[in-house]
Amino acid sequence: MISIKNSIISDLKNIIAGEVINTPESITEFSQDFGRIIKKKPLSIVRPQSSQDVAQVIEYAVHNDLTVCPRAGGYSLGGQCLNQDGIILDMRSLNRIHEINPDQLYFQADAGASWRKVVESSMLHSLIPPVLTNFIDVTVGGTHAAGGIGVSSFRYGTQADNCLELEVVTGDGEIIWCNPKENSELFNHVLCGYGQFGIITQVRHKLQLHRPYTRTYYLTYDNLDALLKDKQTLTSENRIDYLLSVPSPALELFSKAKSKPLIQWFYVLQITIEVDELNANNNDEKILADLNYYRRTYTEDTSYGDFVLPALGMNLPENTVHPWVDLIIPESQAKTYIETALSRLPAVLDCGNTLIGSFCLPLHTTKIPMFCRPNEDTIGLGIYPIIPEFQLQPVLSELKYLTDLALECGGKRYLSGWVDFDLQQWRSQFGNYWSKVNEIKHKYDPKGIFNSGFFKYESVL
Ligand SMILES: Cc1cc2nc3c(=O)[nH]c(=O)nc-3n(C[C@H](O)[C@H](O)[C@H](O)COP(=O)(O)OP(=O)(O)OC[C@H]3O[C@@H](n4cnc5c(N)ncnc54)[C@H](O)[C@@H]3O)c2cc1C
Repeated sequence: MISIKNSIISDLKNIIAGEVINTPESITEFSQDFGRIIKKKPLSIVRPQSSQDVAQVIEYAVHNDLTVCPRAGGYSLGGQCLNQDGIILDMRSLNRIHEINPDQLYFQADAGASWRKVVESSMLHSLIPPVLTNFIDVTVGGTHAAGGIGVSSFRYGTQADNCLELEVVTGDGEIIWCNPKENSELFNHVLCGYGQFGIITQVRHKLQLHRPYTRTYYLTYDNLDALLKDKQTLTSENRIDYLLSVPSPALELFSKAKSKPLIQWFYVLQITIEVDELNANNNDEKILADLNYYRRTYTEDTSYGDFVLPALGMNLPENTVHPWVDLIIPESQAKTYIETALSRLPAVLDCGNTLIGSFCLPLHTTKIPMFCRPNEDTIGLGIYPIIPEFQLQPVLSELKYLTDLALECGGKRYLSGWVDFDLQQWRSQFGNYWSKVNEIKHKYDPKGIFNSGFFKYESVL
């Protein structure tokens, strides 16, 4: 293994302009992701300087039976950007913003640019991408490969739904621009494709004007029915611009019989509108009309910049692991599903220290075939434990149970979290589209060099 390793490093150094590294520190760093659950050791890490570098690495990998995995921020949580005994492409070395176009309302950037960098550039023109994830230090390529869901997804879908064009390096080292009209099959599958069918090197993506300020209403609910009804009202009308809800536990007492805490769940609904003036009369009555909250807790006015560029620190303790999951549930099943999940979690998790969030995705907002969702409006439930490693196994068992329950009721998983699907679960996740996914993999990555080990494919097509 040592001699193969040495020749890979020297070979790659000879054929690309970018950096090639395999120091023990870098191998350790790139052996895990934000989830810290899965570990895979790459042979080398490449920092490409251009799309041509990416193409050269792929050609080299094909000829030498090596696997290649693009990695960007490394913020995925289930090994999606890890690679055992292969090459990691550290896409953050390609991070230029090429263009902010205020007339035609788009930006063009390298895949490794962070969304923070995009927003800092686009806001100079009062422009913003239609959807941002809640944590914007992830990269443009990383979320186009996953989907990218945020507080405006109820209106604009995922970030991938707002992509105009991609530059992609395919499994045979070709550099191709693709969009919904040209090379559309490649475009439609690289989006939300987790690096399975090609490597995104550049992205052209929509922008839209934003107003200078925001007003956010924090509404508390003590009743899930009322919350779901109000979410439906708000997402079917044009009243608000951003929406997020967070279940919040109130400890009632400890049941002696069940030796687990009894919890009353409250729900905070955070709705935001963009406004032209700070602290003006913003038609609060009209915005909040007919809503069934239990208490209007707080109203916050901020500049648009403060709203969209939160200083959300993500320096989690060294010794914790993060089995985060997002479940995408058909709206018709949401009440039963959320109640079941919230009643079971306290047995394995300290819910007071676990962030739980919920988002809405109406059916018409998403159209990317690789983004799995039920065939009706959906409610997302995100469960984000931050736990010591010794607590991992019971939490994973519970998350497996909740995943199976979601799949059984027609729900799906957002694949950027902790995912440990067997083949049957992959079939269930993609439903009727699964045979197409296998076909596309075979077509665009015939040698199976991309991101091996995350998706599990059929052995025979
Ligand atoms: C604190 C935190 C908050 C988050 N909040 C949100 C949120 O609000 N909404 C949301 O949707 N997600 C959220 N996520 C999930 C996150 O957006 C996804 O995991 C995203 O894919 C991570 O992007 P990244 O740049 O770190 O990519 P990585 O984790 O490095 O890669 C993600 C996947 O994309 C592939 N990939 C990376 N670059 C490319 C490329 N150039 N071409 C092809 N494939 C590529 C990788 O191989 C991998 O499969 C959050 C994650 C964390 C840790």
